[in-house]
Amino acid sequence: MNDFAKARTRMVQEQLITRNIIDQRVLDAMREVPRHLFVEDALRAQAYSDFPLPIGEGQTISQPYIVALMTQMLNLQGHEKVLEVGSGCGYQTAILAKISTQVYSVERIKKLLGKARKNLDKTRCYNAICKVADGTLGWPEHAPYDAIIVTAGGPEIPKALVEQLADPGIMVIPVGDKITQQLTRVSKQHGEITIEAGELVRFVNLIGAQGWHLE
Ligand code: SAH
Repeated sequence: MNDFAKARTRMVQEQLITRNIIDQRVLDAMREVPRHLFVEDALRAQAYSDFPLPIGEGQTISQPYIVALMTQMLNLQGHEKVLEVGSGCGYQTAILAKISTQVYSVERIKKLLGKARKNLDKTRCYNAICKVADGTLGWPEHAPYDAIIVTAGGPEIPKALVEQLADPGIMVIPVGDKITQQLTRVSKQHGEITIEAGELVRFVNLIGAQGWHLE
């Protein structure tokens, strides 16, 4: 096992299993995806540490535990079509690509989307399709989605995303103010919407028509 693979095994053991990440699919994906290939060379040594890292353009890749927690909240079984809002460097996209059939990922910053695509190709995640757009409006052409994940924090749950969620379907999104949010799970079943607010988190801002507006 090389050093990165060892660091990954340790990350899963020390940061995920001890914090109640128990979904085997999620743990396997976190063990498999080479997170160090998604960050700048200078940050590689820190890729498996217990904190977020900068990815350029003022954005960040979430801490491994938060990626695992949000993915676990989606309860993926392996056959789902997933929408991600906020591709960033593509790491969360790759985790989703490992445990679902198809991932559609939307990013508002073109430069980051280029990085995400390069990283996803490098790690052979060909079942992930990305585009530049305002993800608060979803990606209507491929809706409905069995699962939706938003990796930036917004003031409210975007209506377009609730509409594009399949029935049954689960969405996970940080909702709150610009500094702190609660990881919120939105479930659709038999036409009914259930909203549960959980863990306090700190995400970059979700900027768009149904998110924060640029000042
Ligand atoms: N999942 C990413 C996290 C990136 S940070 C990763 O693993 O690296 C959140 C990302 O959301 C940023 O890249 C930011 O540009 C993007 N974002 C913010 N508002 C958005 C919007 N309305 N539509 C699409 N992407 C958005």
